[in-house]
Amino acid sequence: MAERVPIREGTFIESAKGGILLANRCKSCGQTFFPKSSICFNCFSEDMEEMELSRIGKLYSFATAYMPSVHFQPPYTVGMVEMPEGMRVFGPLKIQEGERERLRVGMEMEVIIEKLWEEGETEVIGYKFKPVIS
Ligand SMILES: [Zn+2]
Repeated sequence: MAERVPIREGTFIESAKGGILLANRCKSCGQTFFPKSSICFNCFSEDMEEMELSRIGKLYSFATAYMPSVHFQPPYTVGMVEMPEGMRVFGPLKIQEGERERLRVGMEMEVIIEKLWEEGETEVIGYKFKPVIS
């Protein structure tokens, strides 16, 4: 059984409901940050509290890459997803065969946690967004 290691500690959790992204909020002015920030870039307060983001956001923009990358086989699609908490989160999109042509700005996207790539016996896991098919 391969060891699963998060690509970045403290960025997400796997709950019974599914993947949840961890952000934080400035207790002084309410600004939210993902990934978490130790200082508020809006008012420079350091009084921050952790918060869980919603599991569903709306696709804000996306692009498909056809160039090979170190970890992803082309073509692969990345996107920005607007979360209800007021920030846009960048990440890879998980799309099934034939779904790429059906991606639309504004469609609902769900956070999932899964393997990004393998390094020897280690599985590097991270978050992706997958279209909510209703
Ligand atoms: Zn602030």
